[in-house]
Amino acid sequence: MASLDVTGLSAHSCRELLAVGDVSAVELTQAYLDRISAVDGEVQAYLLVDGEGALAAAEAVDAKPKDKRLPWEGVPIGLKDVLCVKGMETTCASRILKGYRPPYDATAIAKLREAGLIFLGKLNMDEFAMGSSTENSAYQVTRNPWDLDRVPGGSSGGSAACVAAAEAPWALGSDTGGSIRQPASLCGVVGLKPTYGAVSRYGLVAFASSLDQIGPVTRDVTDAAALLDLVAGRDPRDATTTGLNEPVGVPGRADLKGLHFGIIKEYLGEASEPGVREVFSAAVATIEALGGKCEEVSLPSVERGVAAYYLIAPSEASSNLARFDGVRYGYRTEHSEDLYDMYVRTRSEGFGDEVKRRIMLGTYALSAGYYDAYYAQAQRTRTLIIQDFDQAFGKFDYLISPTSPTVAFKIGERTADPLAMYLSDLCTIPVNLAGLPGISLPAGHSDGLPVGLQIVGPHFSERGLLDAAYAVEQELKVDVVAPLGGAR
Ligand code: GLN
Repeated sequence: MASLDVTGLSAHSCRELLAVGDVSAVELTQAYLDRISAVDGEVQAYLLVDGEGALAAAEAVDAKPKDKRLPWEGVPIGLKDVLCVKGMETTCASRILKGYRPPYDATAIAKLREAGLIFLGKLNMDEFAMGSSTENSAYQVTRNPWDLDRVPGGSSGGSAACVAAAEAPWALGSDTGGSIRQPASLCGVVGLKPTYGAVSRYGLVAFASSLDQIGPVTRDVTDAAALLDLVAGRDPRDATTTGLNEPVGVPGRADLKGLHFGIIKEYLGEASEPGVREVFSAAVATIEALGGKCEEVSLPSVERGVAAYYLIAPSEASSNLARFDGVRYGYRTEHSEDLYDMYVRTRSEGFGDEVKRRIMLGTYALSAGYYDAYYAQAQRTRTLIIQDFDQAFGKFDYLISPTSPTVAFKIGERTADPLAMYLSDLCTIPVNLAGLPGISLPAGHSDGLPVGLQIVGPHFSERGLLDAAYAVEQELKVDVVAPLGGAR
């Protein structure tokens, strides 16, 4: 059934088709592989498509009787290239990891493998997840399926673009300062960053360990809940995990009666562009129409979020990236005079500009004499941000804002100005600094380009958060499959 139209299929519709026997796992997988062949030349979301491996896994699923305990068996998925998949090249979109094939699965990947999901391949990203446009990939520039001249956001730009272009029903991404939510917003799909500690980071190539979380990029809230349940859980291999208190289950809330939403004041006004503000106001009206109470709330410290993040994240990155030395993983320089020279050349040739910028920032912020002024000060700011959120959650159930201050920008527009690029994550970064769960939902369009609504909840409130997001989604009814190139 090569003619199966996968455009617009969510993962849960794939699951239903498989369950009733309307399609086989092989037919479904082939349909997505065909879709990738048809559109990925333009979108460039995939770094690697494992057609053979995917079809073999799908054949194995079809060959055995259906197992009721594995309801997602045979459903395909795309994976951000920051996740270790046993035997499958994992580069983090960096030259330094070219040719690296992990000898093990990340915990999240192992869980998906056990659940019988089919891995279509690895998705493009900013090198080591550092960036907001996917332009920092050492290999290719992913394009926004809504307008091929624009960026898909980043760093999980490949994940968001592939879901928006129907090149996979869903995907996994990772979010350190907004890397799931911001690209989801720019590509008009759903992106969820779970509470820090809900999902194991084992086998997620580390960027900033106190901020990184793996999470779903999907076409709807129902799929986000399901994928979170599949990957969440306490893991003895990651001491920072606790898992979720309870499974999220299938969201089904019909209204928002009795819920109190705080509109983060610092992200209103000039902080966002007018088209984004308009869509956001309409979303607030929708929340109110559903019975939710909305009121402005000030979180004064979030304005210092970006500054604190660009000291803390690079500091952690400078330490995490020390392991890429040409000895243990991937690339090694061809010619070198001695061991030290080999390290220097390997790292100079292997890392891109943004990664070098972060390593320099981080080593500087951590160096003796500057540590107190920069790193320690940033940590104090982080504490203030945590306190601001705590206080707000004393009064409000959820906090809302636009996900990104702008719609998708043109390719090349911000590459020369790192500070402008860093501001893309203005509304998402504080959520990571406080370890909170946050979701971005498609809220509407501005000039034909998607705008996302961010909803943030208290720690481990995923169940309620996704339920509330579901109610909003049902009312907003935003189209999430991009008309490829349609907005040009
Ligand atoms: N854009 C931010 C950065 O460049 C966040 C990236 C992320 O969440 N991985 O660091």
